[in-house]
Amino acid sequence: MKLEILDLGDRKARFILSGVTPAFSNALRRAMLADIPKMAIDYVDIYDNTSVMFDEMLAHRLGLIPLKTNLNMYKLKEECDCKGAGCALCQVTFTLSAEGPCMVHSRDLKSSDPETVPADDNIPIIELKEGQKLVLTAVARLGHGKEHAKFQPVCPPGYKYVPIIEISEKCDSCKQCVEACPRGVFAVDKNKVVVVSPYECSMCELCMEACDINAIKVSADNTAFIFSVETDGSFSAGEVVTRAADAIRAKAVALGEVMESL
Ligand SMILES: [Zn+2]
Repeated sequence: MKLEILDLGDRKARFILSGVTPAFSNALRRAMLADIPKMAIDYVDIYDNTSVMFDEMLAHRLGLIPLKTNLNMYKLKEECDCKGAGCALCQVTFTLSAEGPCMVHSRDLKSSDPETVPADDNIPIIELKEGQKLVLTAVARLGHGKEHAKFQPVCPPGYKYVPIIEISEKCDSCKQCVEACPRGVFAVDKNKVVVVSPYECSMCELCMEACDINAIKVSADNTAFIFSVETDGSFSAGEVVTRAADAIRAKAVALGEVMESL
């Protein structure tokens, strides 16, 4: 297995994973979505709400606000010593108190842990008009994406096969493929058609259709995959990928132990 990073930012990553099967690639994608614990608001006590929004809708909106998560500080509620009752090791409390006229943003949520705060300050929650009030306490806990979408740390990650683009010797450099490709994969260099951005290829095969003499062949390498990952800010992109790999490893170890005990 080989990993080649094409682009690594704080919230976005693009990399090539090669020497793996399509099933493993899909396992990594699913692990990123479903198997990484993430903090999200799960319980809300609303003391006063004279806004135009129902309590339930408000609680739902609060749940979907991405929270920065430090997994070294918290345990899953079901694995905590408090046995699910809720304590400082498994949950974080937020308070919010606002009176209109104003726009209530995610930054108005005051956290009991300075490290567990909304990933973005400017997410609008509700607009309060003159005289309208909102007072609430919200409790966040760790959960998995397979339980609820609010616990997913990533926008659905995608992957595609690494394309193999072959230009044969009989190419007459008519440039029709260069014009036909919507993604700028080809260019003309010294009167020869060359591949300049192979990873942009979506394998639409328009270049093959445009070529009158069948000089281009596009196929897929089914052992190498280009991944695109974007997080919601709860983790860095690099942490999401490594934690997904850890989750797969933990499952494999658990399966191995079960198989040995049979
Ligand atoms: Zn606890």
